[in-house]
Amino acid sequence: KARTVLLATEKAFAADAVSKIEAVTSAAGYKLVRLENYKSKDDLLKAVADADAMIIRSDKVDQAVLDKAAKLKIVVRAGAGYDNIDLKATEGKGVVSMNTPGQNANAVAELVFGMMITSARNNYDGTSGFELVNRSIAFYGFGAVARAVHKLAQGFGMKSFAYDPYIPAEKIAEMGATPVATVAGLFEHQYVSLHVPLTDETKASINKALLMKMPKGGTLINTARCEVVHEADMVEVFKARQDFCYLCDVAPDDKAAKEAMAAAVGDKFGKRLIFTAKKMGAQTLEANDNCGVAAANQIVAFFEKGETRFALKA
Ligand code: NAD
Repeated sequence: KARTVLLATEKAFAADAVSKIEAVTSAAGYKLVRLENYKSKDDLLKAVADADAMIIRSDKVDQAVLDKAAKLKIVVRAGAGYDNIDLKATEGKGVVSMNTPGQNANAVAELVFGMMITSARNNYDGTSGFELVNRSIAFYGFGAVARAVHKLAQGFGMKSFAYDPYIPAEKIAEMGATPVATVAGLFEHQYVSLHVPLTDETKASINKALLMKMPKGGTLINTARCEVVHEADMVEVFKARQDFCYLCDVAPDDKAAKEAMAAAVGDKFGKRLIFTAKKMGAQTLEANDNCGVAAANQIVAFFEKGETRFALKA
């Protein structure tokens, strides 16, 4: 019997990406079932019953989903961050989980620069701003997205610094960034850009003590996850520092937290506090295509060749 791949996307992919995903699954003789823009978890719980494989985006795969997924062998998060998959639960059920590393890195990197320029040029209000050339940017985490930002930073004539304990310092240096030994060391630089996954170690790790260390014009860029930042501390920092800027693609889900930050900064003109309307770092035609197609290819390679290169561990 042909395998069934469920495309479960609460926020649908662009139509072009869906056609490309379907081209991959149908070439393999698999059936693609689309559950897009679904409104309730019940829809997902029903749809997953027949699925051998699943492609998701920010959709939550937890024990409740797995309990209904009698045939599921593999779930692929089309994207980088996989904090929406309960890896202990998937492992417990013998379901392989994967992400599609690097496929949306350039999309996020371009957004980082878009936000930096918007901030440096005062949200285009006609007043005098500053240039990025010769300024420093420090990366917390030096994976796919950080490296893509670093590549653009080199083009802008900026100096890059990076802290990533999972990558040897020599390797960071080889890539043209200066390795930094501690998280605190990052905050000596004007821009600090967050590119770590959300883990117990990184959760709420960006706090007032670190942010108050930043030099004049200190700017935190967050395209990682809102939970990496200590939100109550951020409100304090905005009150204490008139020069501090926060450029963020991952606004808190909690509306009150978001409003508290906006009230603390009093930034009517969108210069010091930039929140994208919705998480949009990976929302480009190219990233949709890249991540969706990679997910479909990884599923086919898993079933046909036992390929598990991108498998995630709890
Ligand atoms: P990646 O896995 O390529 O890189 C993550 C890096 O963080 C790795 O090099 C890892 O060694 C490092 N790291 C892990 N724990 C660390 C720690 N405690 N301290 C320092 N470094 C640590 O992932 P990526 O593609 O670069 O994406 C990074 C994160 O950005 C994702 O986990 C995701 O949450 C987020 N993201 C957001 C969007 C968006 O749309 N805004 C898109 C892509 C990724």
